[in-house]
Amino acid sequence: MRNFGYYLDFIVFPIVLPCLVVAAHRFGGSIRPLDSATAVFSGIFFWTFLEYAIHRFVLHAGLAFSADHEAHHAAPKAEIGTPTWLTSLILVFGIYIPAVLVLHVGLGLMFGFGVTFGYLVYSFAHYSLHQWNVSNEGIFYAWKRLHALHHFVGKNGNFGVTSSLWDHIFGTVVEKKRGYLAGNN
Ligand SMILES: [Zn+2]
Ligand SMILES: [Zn+2]
Repeated sequence: MRNFGYYLDFIVFPIVLPCLVVAAHRFGGSIRPLDSATAVFSGIFFWTFLEYAIHRFVLHAGLAFSADHEAHHAAPKAEIGTPTWLTSLILVFGIYIPAVLVLHVGLGLMFGFGVTFGYLVYSFAHYSLHQWNVSNEGIFYAWKRLHALHHFVGKNGNFGVTSSLWDHIFGTVVEKKRGYLAGNN
């Protein structure tokens, strides 16, 4: 039987996203479209850093959920992931509320939209990287390989999943000859 909780992110967050937009319009007053777009893109950019930082400094640092993450490393196709309730609490108390308090109701919620969208893309990317088989060509293969190197070659690098931006900035890129990955994923 499939573990329903493992797939809950893909139901909950696509519902949360339009709710954030509606709430921003309803409670945020009039926001200029350019400001709104800037808040969303800032949120997406901030997510890419969070993705790197949580993976490197929490999951691989013997802190909360490190044991679950180790289990994910040992069995990448197993249905092990961060519970949706925990991600939701982190988003509400770590992102939405602080962003609303620091920025502005509407812009804070749009920033939250960007972070949540980034998380959803990450979540889907990480799921598909491990679960889907792809040919040894193209962008998707390069993307899959980036994370496979983290799993099987260098646990101390390639912490970014959706991009290697922060690995480049912090000097934690792991590379290996093309062709590696045969039989692994
Ligand atoms: Zn890892
Ligand atoms: Zn993984």
